[in-house]
Amino acid sequence: MIRLCRALASAALAALAGLGAISAPLPAPDTLTPRQIFDALNGLRVNPDEVYAVHDLRLERGTVTFALEIGTLGFLDDFQGKVTGVVFTGRGRVLAIPRDPGERQSLARFLKVPILDQPITDAYIRFTDGSAQELLDQIHSAQAQKSQDADLLARWNRIASSLNSSHSLRIMTDLLADRPVPYFFADLSNEAMGTFDVLVDNRYTEQVLAGQTRWVEGTEYYDIWTSFSRGDVPAPPENSFKAVSYRISTTIEPDRTLEGTTTIALRAVTGGERVVTLELSRFLTVQNVEDAAGNALTSFQNESLNRNQLAEQGDDLVVVVLDQAPRAGELVQLLLSYRGGVISDAGNGVLFVGERGNWYPHVPGFGDFSSYDLNFRWPRHLRLVATGTPDPEQVDADWATGHWRSESDIPVAGFNLGDYRAETLSLRGGGTQIEVLANSELERELASHFHAAPVPQAGRGLAIPGLSSNSNAELPVEPPPPGQLPSPAARVHEVGEEMADAVRLEEQWLGPFPFPRLEVSQIPGSFGQGWPGLIYLPTMTFLTPEEQQQVGVIGPAQDVYNELVPFHEVAHQWLGDTVGWESYREQWIDEALANYIALLAVDSGKPEGHLLRRSLDQYRNDLGRPAVGGGEVADIGPVTLGARLESARDADAYQKIVYGKGTWIFHMLRMMLRGPGAHDPDARFIAFLHSLLADYRQRPLSNDDLEREIENVMTPSMALEEKHSMAWFFDQWVHGSGIPRYSAQYTAQPKGSGFSVSGTLTQEGVPESFIAVVPIYAQSVTGRQTLLGNVVTSGRQTQFRFLVSAGPKRLLIDPQQTLLCLHD
Ligand SMILES: [Zn+2]
Repeated sequence: MIRLCRALASAALAALAGLGAISAPLPAPDTLTPRQIFDALNGLRVNPDEVYAVHDLRLERGTVTFALEIGTLGFLDDFQGKVTGVVFTGRGRVLAIPRDPGERQSLARFLKVPILDQPITDAYIRFTDGSAQELLDQIHSAQAQKSQDADLLARWNRIASSLNSSHSLRIMTDLLADRPVPYFFADLSNEAMGTFDVLVDNRYTEQVLAGQTRWVEGTEYYDIWTSFSRGDVPAPPENSFKAVSYRISTTIEPDRTLEGTTTIALRAVTGGERVVTLELSRFLTVQNVEDAAGNALTSFQNESLNRNQLAEQGDDLVVVVLDQAPRAGELVQLLLSYRGGVISDAGNGVLFVGERGNWYPHVPGFGDFSSYDLNFRWPRHLRLVATGTPDPEQVDADWATGHWRSESDIPVAGFNLGDYRAETLSLRGGGTQIEVLANSELERELASHFHAAPVPQAGRGLAIPGLSSNSNAELPVEPPPPGQLPSPAARVHEVGEEMADAVRLEEQWLGPFPFPRLEVSQIPGSFGQGWPGLIYLPTMTFLTPEEQQQVGVIGPAQDVYNELVPFHEVAHQWLGDTVGWESYREQWIDEALANYIALLAVDSGKPEGHLLRRSLDQYRNDLGRPAVGGGEVADIGPVTLGARLESARDADAYQKIVYGKGTWIFHMLRMMLRGPGAHDPDARFIAFLHSLLADYRQRPLSNDDLEREIENVMTPSMALEEKHSMAWFFDQWVHGSGIPRYSAQYTAQPKGSGFSVSGTLTQEGVPESFIAVVPIYAQSVTGRQTLLGNVVTSGRQTQFRFLVSAGPKRLLIDPQQTLLCLHD
């Protein structure tokens, strides 16, 4: 995900002192508290003496051009001599042309043209760069006249009062930094598009972003039209602070309130920054923040976020302001106390920890590996499981206490609790312990389904609609007869055996299980979630196939609960919990590879189920379906768009492209790496997996890293372009979108003792430059399939000619599923 804050700089106060000298009435800046700065920035209004009738003003930020052709422009009041915003009403235009074809395609999907070229009638612009001076210089050289329009001023001030707070923290971050990192944000509108944003923020790796908030059927989406690097300034570090260790103490009170303190040791990456951004659930209220010396620090929780940040991260951020900016490499310690409700009761005593892992404050992202030390105190009648290796629990009259410690650095820590029955299994003579914990009763919503008429559920993939994860649905009119409902606890042994199978089968691909133990606990609803050494499995997985059918989970959906979710979450123990991802553009790697390994492992344990083959067919069909607004689902965008694929118009594109196409990408790579005659045909693919896990152990992985890892094991026949390069594959399949559609016309003529089969292979749905190796098979009258050969396509039509002993009944295109393509 795009992150809120990175940082730089060191003599913030000196920088501010220089500015403060211009502004007489305010107190000296080093006497202002962060809260006073924040409030002052929120309170800025348009300066009535600085309003101009303007024409032909221009601002260029990276590749973005803002042209204010004619209208009225007002400057916001200065803060300590520095003007940080303007408001404009009139006629203007914003123009940006991303270089990356994927980004141009993304713009075309939202705006129908592959560039950002929008008229502007109103603009509210905030910045920490030299924009004010740049505009003033143009105004003075054009000898623009001052303007007075009380109605306009009143309207602008209403806009400022509602929008200012979204920018104050970001502006303050630069005001307090030794070296400001320029920020430029334009809230623009026109009649056709309504309100939209254009951001050029040098604190992000992808500095330029354009998008807008959309509401569809009561759901809010933030559609990112485009996001790219401006190219003319260096990329900032991933985060301005890196977590070294977390020490977390948590008490779960009998009413399920969570009270916690977290001590985070952070290393300043660049130094000179005073603002630290952390993620924490909005349901936990920060009560106190201190530094290592016990000084209280100012913090801001869920305030002042841009709309795109809110959409991407939820309002789950805490911003802490340090008293002094640390030097690069210096360690900083923060102690945060917080309290609130993140543990839900799904009814009948089924508890679960919600909030996507934000139950403790942490550095955003999934590539930050740190050590964890967890202490818990909870009502003794409950069982609690957590990430790490536990010490023996202590129990008194009312409370249980426990301590867990990570044995290696991990990206995230989790826990779960309930009124569990537990079963422990040992793998490899005690090497890895698996403990499965489940409640004796069903959560209320699922229990209610046993009394309603069965609802047929179709679908595939990991998210099954129809069972929401935490709603307390209405109880059935008739209360369930006691003892007649299924009990998840009754199946802990079977689920344990299933998890042991998953670990054993996936170890054949991924190597030894990376943690000394695996806790598996039940959560209500339809999703699984994987933490290092801890997996949540949905209640549905704990039901027998007959019980699942009683609540309408039938056919492919049963495969999902019984096999795909458990195996997928086990695969995340390696992919995600041992190797991280660098940004939203790489999240597909862990998801798709975990999905593919799960399918391979299920298939090798139960080949008669053909889950891999059926899944690949299903994914291909989904990708070939028509998309809203033209083209097919596969055309919506590349896997590297990650969460951006899910927009107001394509709500399930993320699932179909990241999981479906992503799984196919790894399948195609495996097929190319296969040595059919070898002792182990998958030896090269397995070597790739092992080297990936070793090279990026406890580190984030990028798309380029993945490409290099494949190049390390590629065969000469995979080099379709230059020697030893997989760029063709990554350009087309990873960074590109769309899938090819093939059809073959041919004639068979007797030649010698056999036949000559010649014809044309037509490739559609992808650019002219698309290349692929397409296997063509002959099917005989008896149904036997024989490989005639591989056709390397170039352009729309490729000729082929094969000599065969018998005349084919028909030709088949890739019947062995080695290539993601559509064909008749
Ligand atoms: Zn996953």
